[in-house]
Amino acid sequence: MNEERRGVYPFCASCTACSVAWRVTDTSGPGSGHFYGHRDTCQDCGSSIRTPYHTVLWVPVSKLGEFRVISTGGRNYIGRKLIAQPVHSVVRGEPVSAIAEHPELEVASEYRTAEAYWEDSEPGQALPFYQEALVEREKVLRADDPATLRVRLRVAQGLLATANYGRAIAWFELLTPQLVDVFGPHHDLTHAATEAVTGARLMVGGPRAEARLLADVVAADEQDVGPGDPQLLRDRAALGQALLACGEISDALYALSRVVRDARPGHPDTAVYRAALLDACEVAEARGKRREVLLAETARQVLSDESTPTGMGTD
Ligand SMILES: [Zn+2]
Repeated sequence: MNEERRGVYPFCASCTACSVAWRVTDTSGPGSGHFYGHRDTCQDCGSSIRTPYHTVLWVPVSKLGEFRVISTGGRNYIGRKLIAQPVHSVVRGEPVSAIAEHPELEVASEYRTAEAYWEDSEPGQALPFYQEALVEREKVLRADDPATLRVRLRVAQGLLATANYGRAIAWFELLTPQLVDVFGPHHDLTHAATEAVTGARLMVGGPRAEARLLADVVAADEQDVGPGDPQLLRDRAALGQALLACGEISDALYALSRVVRDARPGHPDTAVYRAALLDACEVAEARGKRREVLLAETARQVLSDESTPTGMGTD
């Protein structure tokens, strides 16, 4: 389906096609910029296949796989994770949306206006209209309905286009697992999200800068909205992920646990937040530092507590 896709700078098209976006490594973190091996150097883009040295994010190498890596000077690298299965092995039909039962959504003026701006390459102008359209869709459609996800992606892209990098990253992180579930890992929409978040991260400049930015975003949210507000949940979850990426495991566990506790019961987003917390627990356990392992234990109790919201159930 994506034969015609161009590469994602600085990777060429064929190297892009067999890999997925991955975080920029943080030069100040242990293990960053260290790789084993150096093979299959690409004639087009100069990337080569390498395996992270001992740990990345303190997770054993065996769990991380191989990366296509391009050096960007000094100890800075951009990596793309190789996909285990070939891109074309999964053939899926387009998922079915419930929007057929709500035809008014497709003709709503805010949605029409948003689409018109988008087609004119005015994502910034389209953004507020997509945000309004999204509110209307989420009233009647599931958050992970294909028709909702399309608008969610536009909102994220609009935030990116208007240099709201922190909130854009938060949206892409929430969206990407949902796009993977609903459309599949190799769908154009999924690719659009994973590539956009890579671009946003390049603009922000590494996990530490990302964590600082998101801490400011969360502080602003806390002034404006209540603890269970979707925007605050999303931004705080992204803060947790950024903290995890720069090795602040305890703070990451704290932030993600808080998101999971405040999340909306039975909402598809809650499943994403729970999965992120579970990942953080696994990182803490793999790293094996006593204090973090104990915090992970507490976090797992939050996850298994019956009063903690789950992503399933009511709808
Ligand atoms: Zn290449």
